[in-house]
Amino acid sequence: MTTTNMPDTDSLARLIAIVGDANAITDTAAQAPFLTEWRDRYRGKTPVVLKPGTVREVSEILKLANHEKIGVVTQAGNTGLVGGQIARPAGTDIVLSVARLNQLRTLDANNRHMVVEAGVTLANAQEHARNAGLEFPLRIASEGSACVGGAVATNAGGVHVVAHGSMRNLTLGLEVVLANGEVWDGLRALKKDNTGYDLKDLIVGSEGTLGVVTAAALKLVTPPVSVATALLGASTLDDVAILFARLSRHLGANLTAFEFMSDQALSFVTDAIPNTRLPFGKLCPWTVLIEISSGRSPDDADLMLEQALCDETVLSCLRESAIATSDTMAQSFWKLRETISEAQKHGGGSIKHDISVPIGQIAKFIPAANARVTKLCPGARPCPFGHFGDGNIHYNISQPEDGNKDAFLAHWEEMQTVVHDLVREFDGSISAEHGIGIMKRDALKRTKSPAELAMMQSIKQALDPNGILNPGKVL
Ligand SMILES: Cc1cc2nc3c(=O)[nH]c(=O)nc-3n(C[C@H](O)[C@H](O)[C@H](O)COP(=O)(O)OP(=O)(O)OC[C@H]3O[C@@H](n4cnc5c(N)ncnc54)[C@H](O)[C@@H]3O)c2cc1C
Repeated sequence: MTTTNMPDTDSLARLIAIVGDANAITDTAAQAPFLTEWRDRYRGKTPVVLKPGTVREVSEILKLANHEKIGVVTQAGNTGLVGGQIARPAGTDIVLSVARLNQLRTLDANNRHMVVEAGVTLANAQEHARNAGLEFPLRIASEGSACVGGAVATNAGGVHVVAHGSMRNLTLGLEVVLANGEVWDGLRALKKDNTGYDLKDLIVGSEGTLGVVTAAALKLVTPPVSVATALLGASTLDDVAILFARLSRHLGANLTAFEFMSDQALSFVTDAIPNTRLPFGKLCPWTVLIEISSGRSPDDADLMLEQALCDETVLSCLRESAIATSDTMAQSFWKLRETISEAQKHGGGSIKHDISVPIGQIAKFIPAANARVTKLCPGARPCPFGHFGDGNIHYNISQPEDGNKDAFLAHWEEMQTVVHDLVREFDGSISAEHGIGIMKRDALKRTKSPAELAMMQSIKQALDPNGILNPGKVL
């Protein structure tokens, strides 16, 4: 394993000179927002936060850091949930923020793609697309802060993956600065490119360990003309699975969201979040939020929804249903889904897992996981929800009611091991959308095969032989 060096006074001065004093943060208080993350699980330390304004400056920083073997932690919006963007507590890594690389470079409306820089927030990327009459369909709750560079580096997912895929599917090309400072211009907007190894796909999801993304060519889609939203109540997960199979067969790519929520998740929301309530009287064991989009006519999505809900098999799986009759009502349905994480905080401590299993196995996985975690910690309250249509479960567990938060959180490692072992038994993934970072680094070692780990190590060694890029993360 390679080790990195603490930058000496001379290297630090040269690094700062690349971006200029105004774009280098050495004051500890001013550095604070770059050194803690959203859940406050990881805190870092750094001699300097550098904010380059050009690709050339990024290249010069990496050239110098590589020569002096200084660790570089790239950061975009700092919304990552696995600690990947946080400098190590030893205080030796420099932080490279891409926030100033925030320009729309080109947008080709006819061929539906745009090139944006890594520091453009996802919300701004969506706005650029909207301004051209198009849509950038990646939708995640952190989109106001999360940026294109971070989304590429974590292969971000979200609620529309079921129809449009994750960031990997939306990325056509990349511009990346390699560990030695070389700039790889791979900003091609090609749909087909069979010229050997797919270097773009290697960088997508690499979490800042193989290169610094400075810009991306992104795919855009035609926005829907009509959207229909509904909440469906079901008694069992088997019924939810049948609903998904049936609705996706009827609706194909028009089914743009299929999110599921447990009764525990929804009762946290309605108890804690103002102005939230269920459109049907009684809470069902499982609630599904579906969204249907159509590019054909203003009433087409509603018609498709009505037809789909008349299907006999669908009807046999439904306990309740409510169709949004206005945008406000649709937003109130989405609010139920999008405020679960916030609401869960009111239930005390929670241990979270972002996992995926084959869709057909969700109905078996959740009861099996519930049995194991409640055996480990009697009274613990499983609160699963997530992107059913992608097999992605946010398998969160809240502490027992009236229990002690610290005593519950002391189960963190043990509970993660129990859940991840079960995920492995189901041929699933221990990280469906948040990545590995520091949080799941050891779990990765336990759950990937030796052959997979060796391939990953070889790639890292080839692209970053001095191990300067996000040291200690992922591998
Ligand atoms: C409320 C909330 C909701 C969320 N919902 C979702 C969701 O639905 N789906 C989902 O997938 N994620 C979700 N996330 C996680 C997070 O928003 C995503 O992982 C996002 O893609 C991170 O983007 P960022 O710009 O904040 O990256 P950062 O947090 O800054 O960095 C994340 C990782 O990417 C690396 N990185 C950042 N920029 C670059 C770059 N330019 N080049 C190379 N490496 C880079 C970092 O080193 C780090 O390893 C959520 C987070 C929050 C707080």
